[in-house]
Amino acid sequence: MPANRLFYKTRVVTPGPTDVPPAVLLEMAQPIIHHRTKQFQAIFTQMTQRLGNLFRTKGPVLTLAGSGTTAFEAAMISLAKPGSKVITVASGKFGERWQDIYDQYAPSLNVTNVKINVPWGQAVTAQQIADALAANPDASVVALVHSETSTATACDLKAIAQVTAKSNALLIADSITGVGALPVEMDAWGVDCVVTGSQKALMLPPGLGFVALGQRAQDRLKEVKAGAYYNLDLRRWLKALADNDVPFTAPVSLIRGQSVALEMIEKEGLETIWTRVAKLAAATRAAFGAMGLKLISQNPSDSVTGIFYPAGIDDSKFRGALRDKYGLHTAGGQDGRGAKWKVSILRVSHMGYVDAGDTLAFLSAVETELIAAGQKIESGTALAAAAKVLAS
Ligand SMILES: *Cc1c(COP(=O)(O)O)cnc(C)c1O
Repeated sequence: MPANRLFYKTRVVTPGPTDVPPAVLLEMAQPIIHHRTKQFQAIFTQMTQRLGNLFRTKGPVLTLAGSGTTAFEAAMISLAKPGSKVITVASGKFGERWQDIYDQYAPSLNVTNVKINVPWGQAVTAQQIADALAANPDASVVALVHSETSTATACDLKAIAQVTAKSNALLIADSITGVGALPVEMDAWGVDCVVTGSQKALMLPPGLGFVALGQRAQDRLKEVKAGAYYNLDLRRWLKALADNDVPFTAPVSLIRGQSVALEMIEKEGLETIWTRVAKLAAATRAAFGAMGLKLISQNPSDSVTGIFYPAGIDDSKFRGALRDKYGLHTAGGQDGRGAKWKVSILRVSHMGYVDAGDTLAFLSAVETELIAAGQKIESGTALAAAAKVLAS
């Protein structure tokens, strides 16, 4: 923020953390209540019910204190069978992280990590998963990312779940930028374990991770004894949930805020939100296309859009101008094993508390700054293209 502007309106359009609605902020500002009280239990029980509606599951949804990584790591290590293979898919930075986590635990869990690497910007296919399972029938887990935020790419989770359901392997899906933004039907699709976090589509600050468990995942937790981990043992969290509780001190303020945010989602309607997110993404893709900018993804996710900068644009200067002149907080890229995108891409989010006004402001600012940087774009191109989609 420029030093001379003390009161500065920010528009957070990064793909996490995202903006939090005022009603949720106010709820979190309420006085602290003790977590072993009837009052807190009522809030927690209601939030858990709402999570079930969000994931479209009748099964248990666990609320862990920690970020999305905490929740996914807990699912990965609690559900893997010792002595088996685990299949991990990387098509971006987050998938690479999940591969690293199983590598780290391989000696203590006694698992062999079978890695599928997909070029960044592409999505893993159901056929690739089927082939990997055919070659590794002793795999106990397939861990992958539904919406790979680092590459703005989504895979066909429904088709992949049809494949894993026929195998002995559980499907663990990182849907941290999927759930609440893209259609996810956990029970109907037969996804064994779906994980999300609070700071993306769920309109809360970072700090909560959610793990939804299907029947096969619950059976696996019974079948397999816990290994060398404690806080991350899902059995502990599942046992506490049976009493509408968590095993350790609950992040009470976040939980009451999450309940309010989930109530807002229910009131708007999940399908309505999916449609809104898809429309904002389509408008953004149309505007980028009209300006001649290339998408980073060949299978774009609707929760986040990324483009490659045209030659001559400096990432830090460009996003600095968006931030300082327009209050727009955007995301750049990341470097990983599959690609080095740290200074070459720009990403914008369509999930959570973001609307058409934010999206149009972002697109207009991008166009203005590209023109200022010498790009040959006719003024008004981005808005004309976006408005056509938004009006349809
Ligand atoms: C944000 C995100 C995560 C979790 O990251 P944390 O920083 O641990 O919350 C994991 N996977 C994807 C796809 C994400 O977008």
